[in-house]
Amino acid sequence: MQTMIYQRHMPPEELFAAQLEMLIQNGRLATVLAHLLGVAGTVLLFWPFMAFNSIMLWAAAFLILLLVRSLHMSNALVERRFLTSPKRLYWQLVLGATLTGAVWAAVYIYAATRVPLGRQYTFLLLIIMMTAFSVGFSVIVREYFLAYLFGSLWPIAWWSVVHYWQEPYSLIVGLSLLGFIALLVFVSNRIYESFRNMISLNWERETMSQELGELTGSLRDRNRQLRDARRHLADLANVDELTGLGNRRLVNSALHEELNRARRVGGELSVILLDVDYFKNYNDTYGHPAGDKVLQQLADLMQRATTRAGEVVARYGGEEFILILPGASGESALRTANRLKDLVLAEAIPHETSKVAPYVTISQGIVTVQPTAEVEPADIIKQADNALYAAKDAGRNTVIVA
Ligand code: GH3
Ligand code: MG
Ligand code: MG
Repeated sequence: MQTMIYQRHMPPEELFAAQLEMLIQNGRLATVLAHLLGVAGTVLLFWPFMAFNSIMLWAAAFLILLLVRSLHMSNALVERRFLTSPKRLYWQLVLGATLTGAVWAAVYIYAATRVPLGRQYTFLLLIIMMTAFSVGFSVIVREYFLAYLFGSLWPIAWWSVVHYWQEPYSLIVGLSLLGFIALLVFVSNRIYESFRNMISLNWERETMSQELGELTGSLRDRNRQLRDARRHLADLANVDELTGLGNRRLVNSALHEELNRARRVGGELSVILLDVDYFKNYNDTYGHPAGDKVLQQLADLMQRATTRAGEVVARYGGEEFILILPGASGESALRTANRLKDLVLAEAIPHETSKVAPYVTISQGIVTVQPTAEVEPADIIKQADNALYAAKDAGRNTVIVA
């Protein structure tokens, strides 16, 4: 798996979807609540001046519009339409905002000639408050807010400017409103950009931390693989291919380790070096591959003869093997050697050209190290080798203790 970390940018379509989602989530309830208050205020302000029936009809119609918009937003959220059909949803939302805004403008213009000036301007204040309030949640989709603004305050402003002849303050109100609208457009642009930055920065942070997490995970996996491979290689480096026993490398490190341990805990350490008798003759008689088979058989026997934990059996060279017996006294090592000698004899591997028996036999040299002795691994091998030579000299198929 290839993982790269680089600066990511939120794809525009994802940003757009996130904006729509955020608008619906935040705006759904706020829109309804703000307009419910608006409707209540309007009814209170106007009911003495208008036919009760018509004002109730208006309120009912407007509440239905709000209900429809609220359901539409809930559905869009549940069906995740900001992902599946964002463009369509966008236009529906903008249309809803325009309609709602236009309702306020229509009511204002209708009421302007029918209610006292004080109430009219109180009503205007109500609309301004709702507009200002809606900036906070609706500007996340700029056009949504602008649609509402240009549906409501914009027509009211122009109507006021145009009707200054009816009412002298109307011009001032209209021009002030235009200024206010300009201010709102400016401010909303700023907030809009901040919102978008916030969303995409958040996205980038999350994406990168996720990638970082994946990378860390894959690095951890690779480290584990590397460690396993190293361990495997180390094992291979210590294993003799033919017999599966330890090799000379292993002997050196094991001897070193066991000597140190023996010194630390004050135990004895015995080593048996063994060599096959007349093995050159065996190869000459039965062939090298048959010789190899014998070496494998002997390896099995050696493993059978050593049963204690910590005992090491290794192939030291061609047809020479070594047994490292930690904690074994000389007597104990001698018992092991004799057991091995008997095992080999019992195996009765035919060897016509051996001068000591008609079967394959082995010679063994034993060394036992006392914990106080200052010896190196090489010294032990040397002593064991001497004992082995002595065993050969003594007629082979024997065990000699150094
Ligand atoms: P001795 O009783 O004195 O030990 O006589 P030997 O013939 O066994 O003499 P030596 O120990 O020097 O013999 C080594 C022989 O072991 C030479 C070689 O043919 C044989 N040998 C060494 N390594 C291998 C091996 O990997 N496979 C086989 N088949 N033979 C090996
Ligand atoms: Mg030899
Ligand atoms: Mg030999």
